[in-house]
Amino acid sequence: LSSNRINLLDDQIISQIAAGEVIEGPSAVLKELCENSLDAGALSITVAIESGGKKLVKVADDGFGMSIDDLSAAFKRHSTSKIRSAEELSAISTLGFRGEALASIASVARVEAVSRETDTDSIEGNRISIEGGNILEISPAGSTTGTTVTVKDLFFNTPARKKFLKNDKSESRKCLLTFKSLCLSRSDVEFNYYSENRKLLNLPPQSLKDRISDVFGGDIIEGIIDVDFAEGDYRIFGYVSEKEHTKRTREFQYLYLNGRRISDRRLGASIYSAYSGMVAQGDFPFYFLFLEMDPSLVDVNVHPAKSEVRFRYENQVAGFARRAVQRSLGIESVMGGFNSGLQYRGNYTSQRQGGPSGAPGESAVLVGNKLTPEEYRLLINPPVSPGSREQELIDLTDENKLPGESVDRFIPENLFQLHNKYIIAQIKSGMVVFDQHAAHERILFEQTLNHLEAGKAPSQKLLFPHFLELSPGDSEIFEEMIPWLEKMGFAILASGPRLYQVETVPAGLKVSDEISMIRGMLEYYKENEEQREDNAERIAASFACKAAIKAGDSLTPEEMVGLIEALFRTGTSFACPHGRPTYIRIDMREFDRRFGRLT
Ligand code: ADP
Ligand code: MG
Repeated sequence: LSSNRINLLDDQIISQIAAGEVIEGPSAVLKELCENSLDAGALSITVAIESGGKKLVKVADDGFGMSIDDLSAAFKRHSTSKIRSAEELSAISTLGFRGEALASIASVARVEAVSRETDTDSIEGNRISIEGGNILEISPAGSTTGTTVTVKDLFFNTPARKKFLKNDKSESRKCLLTFKSLCLSRSDVEFNYYSENRKLLNLPPQSLKDRISDVFGGDIIEGIIDVDFAEGDYRIFGYVSEKEHTKRTREFQYLYLNGRRISDRRLGASIYSAYSGMVAQGDFPFYFLFLEMDPSLVDVNVHPAKSEVRFRYENQVAGFARRAVQRSLGIESVMGGFNSGLQYRGNYTSQRQGGPSGAPGESAVLVGNKLTPEEYRLLINPPVSPGSREQELIDLTDENKLPGESVDRFIPENLFQLHNKYIIAQIKSGMVVFDQHAAHERILFEQTLNHLEAGKAPSQKLLFPHFLELSPGDSEIFEEMIPWLEKMGFAILASGPRLYQVETVPAGLKVSDEISMIRGMLEYYKENEEQREDNAERIAASFACKAAIKAGDSLTPEEMVGLIEALFRTGTSFACPHGRPTYIRIDMREFDRRFGRLT
């Protein structure tokens, strides 16, 4: 006897299954309906939800509308006006294209749509109502031009799915977040939002900056920088946060590709890496970035909700995004990218924090503010008394001045080490205090990155080889580090199971215990997997952290001079690789104020 186990599912069930992928909750309904409105050329969209969208999601637009035939076709599976052939799949310029959203929604809710086309003479529109996938009625109906879709009682016929919805409050929050990211995608479109009959947002067509401000509050605008950058096939524009303005979450990271919000780990990491060394652990820059490229350079058909995409040239795009952000931050690729080496562009002298010429009343303590070339010159060339020692030094702050011009060297006598921890130096506008550990960390970090790029750093042989024994898990990770370590000047031989022999270390390394330093690096490397996705940076940061002079190390005057000079030779001298400042400036006005000299 044969048994037939395999059935063909009917359309109703197929739609419900599909709905499970696209429509995971009210916020997905909201998103799909709004995207349809935008695709229909709407310039004004109004959304209303009730009970977190479970009871009602309603989207009204003033787009080009649908005819009565389109209205009934729209809710069939795989019905779309946006593509006709498989070829067109490779260059999608609309938000929708699969023709499954309306069918999916209609299969799991009570739906009504009213629509009237813009380009006909008829004064009436049409209405369709569908319940659980069955058309109940199609009839003429009074309507303004455009389309209004009302989705009630989501998942009323799929109780199992309904159970997975969160409480009204959190579904409501999800809806609002989804709505906000749609609002940002098109600041030229008017958006209105009602929740539980209360008007929450009313956004006129406006600039992107005003839109961000209206959606997220004015204070977020304070700390943002313009991005607008084009290169080859790509353009990116929008705003990124200044390095001083970060959030504790990734929540405010908005990335759009051709108008569609996407999430992309790789791109996210490369944007984050533009801030490398300037943002403390656990802090995240925020951004609203719009990437644009020819649709044929990206496949948007790889994810049910289309929130992930596949770039044809992923590396190119990632590098492009990183450069764009770096450039906006005023950084040429010094860290994280090996391309430009130690180049200092000298354009950090942003006065918006109030430099010596800043507005009165602003804080005079300028943490991590870049010294101007002139201030640097004064720092390394303080007013000298006759007869004090002078030596030649190239002006390190300005590449263009390399030929010919030179200034005097630091005067060790003008430096003071405070509690073997900080170095104090006088400058014209007041004083600079260096954190000796952070400063050295920054120097070693960049040196190491350079060595990793160049391939081979000078090394020194240990008098006796040292041995390092590791746990199985650690040795696996350590093996991953060894090729990098060798580029830095370590020579490490495997001399037994999980036993390593260290024969040489980087030249100039001054630590009392090389083995515990290497162990420290390993720990650091393990802990920072999330923070620094770039392995070279992670290695360099771990070395810098463990090999740098510590608080408590006493320095000779010459060592202090060397440290400060080397610091200003780095690309991002104002912050250590963890984003702590390497120096702070304290303005004379601050002293004057405290001593009551200011009137
Ligand atoms: P897709 O957006 O992938 O084409 P949908 O199921 O979301 O699929 O919509 C099916 C079709 O219904 C669309 O292609 C479009 O022609 C039409 N449609 C849906 N919503 C609207 C709207 N708000 N205004 C005009 N036409 C719409
Ligand atoms: Mg759609």
